[in-house]
Amino acid sequence: MVRAVVVGAGMVGLATAWHLQEHGVQVTVVDRTGVAAGSSWGNAGYLTPAKTTPLADPSLWTYGPRALVDPDAALHVPFRFDLRLWSFLARFAGHGTMRAWHRTMAALTPINQLALAAFDELSDGGVHSRTRTGPFVVGFTAEREAEGFVAEMSRVAGHGQDIPLERLDHPQTLAPQLSGAVQVAYRLDGQRFIEPGPFVESLGEAVLARGGDLRTGVRAVAVDHQSSPGVVLDSGERLAADSVVVATGAWLPELVRPLGVRVPVHAGRGYSFTVASQPPPQHPIYLPTQRIACTPYQDRLRIAGTMEFRRPDEALQPRRIQAMVNQAQALLTGVDLEQRQDEWVGARPVTPDGLPLVGATRAPGVYVAGGHGMWGIVLGPATGKLLAEQIVTGRRDAVLAPFDPLR
Ligand SMILES: Cc1cc2nc3c(=O)[nH]c(=O)nc-3n(C[C@H](O)[C@H](O)[C@H](O)COP(=O)(O)OP(=O)(O)OC[C@H]3O[C@@H](n4cnc5c(N)ncnc54)[C@H](O)[C@@H]3O)c2cc1C
Repeated sequence: MVRAVVVGAGMVGLATAWHLQEHGVQVTVVDRTGVAAGSSWGNAGYLTPAKTTPLADPSLWTYGPRALVDPDAALHVPFRFDLRLWSFLARFAGHGTMRAWHRTMAALTPINQLALAAFDELSDGGVHSRTRTGPFVVGFTAEREAEGFVAEMSRVAGHGQDIPLERLDHPQTLAPQLSGAVQVAYRLDGQRFIEPGPFVESLGEAVLARGGDLRTGVRAVAVDHQSSPGVVLDSGERLAADSVVVATGAWLPELVRPLGVRVPVHAGRGYSFTVASQPPPQHPIYLPTQRIACTPYQDRLRIAGTMEFRRPDEALQPRRIQAMVNQAQALLTGVDLEQRQDEWVGARPVTPDGLPLVGATRAPGVYVAGGHGMWGIVLGPATGKLLAEQIVTGRRDAVLAPFDPLR
């Protein structure tokens, strides 16, 4: 029996475990906390290949400096002496060109095109939590605000994705939560959404039901290759296997840097909360200018946003939630932004070049899966499928080539 240990029970780790099981591999998943304990819990749950685009683009050069001095801006960088952070941001900003945008988009398009079908495969294989189809309602206060979004969608279409985008005359019919301040709106079809926490829990249950082992409250302190690949736990125990996959999200560097993975991963922390909505929401609402994503969640509206470059385990900063409230309140109606529940912070695993890290490390039999930044939920299942194939067959699909962790 071939055995694998997966470190990290987020969307990416569990999807990889599920696909390894498809190939008959016996999997053990370990997580320092529990299923979906990291970024895979309170995110927006958008399954939007249309929006799975490079995070850095030329608008960074105008938006970035303004954001640094605006306490309500979605982007937040604390002023502190942190060499690692500032060198990461310098490399990240270096990708804020149209040339880099097209290079990154060309690398993302093939996996984007596999992303939704990979969710169907999970549903057919015992993952009971369901995906829901859009439309997504995209709102702006003025025509000029919409131009950048529409231009980006047309560039994405130019790379080969189908982008059904249509102007809406009466957006409030689909999304009564939008206030009259929203003067320009589009509907984006062909996308889906999920309730991410319940979905990843359901994926964890499917891995268990298929004979996998899930050990929570167990921290990996090292991954090595002695006579075989193995994971050293904080208890001192070593789990040996034929393959090890490190899928620890924003915590990736501590385990994979010693294995030759030099691409930095930094936490780009985002926040979310839910509010009651009257009537209950039916469709996701996206406010690109405010960088706010709203999703129906358990009959409430989940509101998610911000990009805060702090360390992954720092405490939730209430000021970031307030910034989101300040940004959203003029654009939403029928929701009480003061009666918030489920306030949450999670750490997106961000790479400077906007590409994930998926593939072999320098240690034989040890692989990495992560670094998806804004898009680890939508890309998690396709990532798990392609990486499991590589581990089992030894052949890397061309889709994964740009994501080489040793680049
Ligand atoms: C506000 C917000 C909104 C977002 N919206 C979307 C969206 O709409 N669509 C989308 O596709 N993506 C979205 N994302 C991004 C997405 O959430 C992440 O890309 C994705 O969850 C990353 O999954 P992961 O499995 O790589 O990491 P995580 O979910 O963070 O999982 C990593 C796991 O590793 C465990 N771990 C860490 N270190 C160790 C260790 N040493 N030993 C054992 N276990 C360890 C952690 O406990 C954790 O459970 C959003 C993120 C945020 C913050």
